Order: sequence, then C-alpha cells, then structure tokens
Amino acid sequence: MRKPLIKKYVATTMITLLLLGVLSACNTESESSAEQETTERPILVQGPMPIEAEEFAQKLENVTEETSGSFVFYKGTVDDYPVIVAKTGKGMENTAAATAVAIEKYNPRAIINQGTSGGHDPELEVFDIVLGKRTTNTGSLKTVNLNEDEGIKPTEWKPMDLLASEGSAGEDPDAENIRYFEGDSDLLAAANAVKDDYQKGKVVEGTIGSADVWNNEIDRINWFHEKYGTSVEEMEGAAGAQIAQAYDVPFLGIRILSNNKVNGGEYNPNTAEANQEYVYKVVQQYIKNQEKN
Ligand code: SAH
Repeated sequence: MRKPLIKKYVATTMITLLLLGVLSACNTESESSAEQETTERPILVQGPMPIEAEEFAQKLENVTEETSGSFVFYKGTVDDYPVIVAKTGKGMENTAAATAVAIEKYNPRAIINQGTSGGHDPELEVFDIVLGKRTTNTGSLKTVNLNEDEGIKPTEWKPMDLLASEGSAGEDPDAENIRYFEGDSDLLAAANAVKDDYQKGKVVEGTIGSADVWNNEIDRINWFHEKYGTSVEEMEGAAGAQIAQAYDVPFLGIRILSNNKVNGGEYNPNTAEANQEYVYKVVQQYIKNQEKN
C-alpha cells in the first residue's frame, strides 16, 4: 500500500521540478533576449539624396542592403555597434514615411537626420554646420482672411501647430503657435564633444526650419529668421522629428550649409560629404557615451 504512494510523491515532485526548470529556462531566455534588444538597438542615420547618404553607407562595416518602398536601408556597424543608414529621398513625406518604417522595422535607439541646407543666418557660411537644438515645420501656416481681389499677404500668415489638439486647426486659436521639436540632449552632447574635430567650418547649435519649399526671396528668408529664429532651411528635419517624437525615439537634425542666399554663399554639393564625415564622428562619440552609461 505504501509503495504506490511514495511512487506518486516522487512522480509529482519530478513533474514539479521539471515544470520549474522549464519555467526558469523560459525566464532566462526572455531576460537575455530583452537585454540583447536593449544593447543592440541600432542608431539610424538618415540622408535624403544619394550624395547625402551614400558616403556614410560606404563607411559602414558588414553592410547588407534592404529596401522598403523607395527607401533604402544600409544595415551595418560602426565600431562593432549596429548603425543603419537610410536613404530617404527628398522632402517631408518621404522622410516621415521612411522614419515610421524604420522605427517599426528596426526599433532604433536614436535617429540623426542629416544633410545639406540653405542659410537663414548671415553669420553662417557654406560648410558651417548647425546642430538642431530645435527643428520646426515652416510650411505649416494659416493665411489671413481676405476676400476676392484683396490679394495675398504671406507676411501676415500665422504659424499653425497641427499637434496642438485633435480638433480643427483652422478654428483653434491655440493652434496659432510655432511647434518646435527639441533635439535630444545626449545626441547634442555627442555632437558638441567632437565639434573641434571639424575643420571645414564652425559647428553651432541652432534652429532648423523644414518645408517642401526652397526659399530664394531674401525678405521671406529674413521673415522666417526673425519670426521662427531659423538658422537654416531644408526639406526633411521637422518631418523626421515629428515622427520620432510620436514614437518617443531620441532625435537630432545635423545640417551643413550648402548655400546661403542671405550672404551670397554659393551652392556647393561637396558639403554633403563633409557633413557625413562629421556625423560619422558624432555617431562614434554617441556609441562611446552610451557604453559608459
Ligand atoms: N541644388 C539641388 C537641390 C536639391 S533639392 C538641386 O537643384 O538639385 C533640395 C535638397 O537639398 C533637400 O533635400 C533639402 O533638404 C536640401 N537643401 C539644401 N539647401 C536648401 C535650401 N536653401 N532650401 C531648401 N532645401 C535645401
């Protein structure tokens, strides 16, 4: 009579131990894969045009290429850390979509949007670099009310903050504000730490204005410079910043001046390469700083 009872006890204990073993194995597995994910989330570096992305892509090691729609992602490493270079194409729509796709696919820990820009600040020369302490959409505007034959008055247009509320931006006076996206402080710190390595111009913190517009009217450029505090304009940064914020991913715009209408700085496409060389050093520094933490 006693034997089967002991057998039953032994069997139950063994099953319990087995179950516990399986459970704890599952636990360690999920812990270690979670750990892996956090240490290996890639840094995403975006560039709109081939000349603004391919230079950096060539510096990557162990590269594989993936495409999604018209976006090209070069997946590789910098100093053994995963870095993805995205060739997004020009403009706000491409950038917003390429940012969302990259976040969903690759779960980046940080995003740098970089490339060329046009100067709004007369103190900035072609080859100077602006770190986007703030980025803003300069195409998001509400016009004044005018009737037929009353003309158009762009200098009276108001900024329109499409993120102010879920209600009508046209009716909402709270939406008549400039929306600034703040550059991430850790990315800014890394960029500032290597700015003395850049010899082709100066590196300053400033405000990047973005829209699908190339402004060549100096009065209009000055209007943005005074009203929005823009240092430079380009066509991508604010779109990337908005989507990065939507997913709570650290973001920084880094823009070199390829032209500056306000002080006669002629367009120079070689600036695109110079910026990528600088951004490469920023990425190395950021990786170093993250490893220390
Ligand atoms: N000069 C080139 C311009 C390409 S389009 C050409 O004519 O083909 C503009 C691209 O350059 C965008 O990706 C934008 O981010 C950047 N850019 C450089 N200077 C700019 C400026 N002054 N205004 C707007 N975008 C500018």
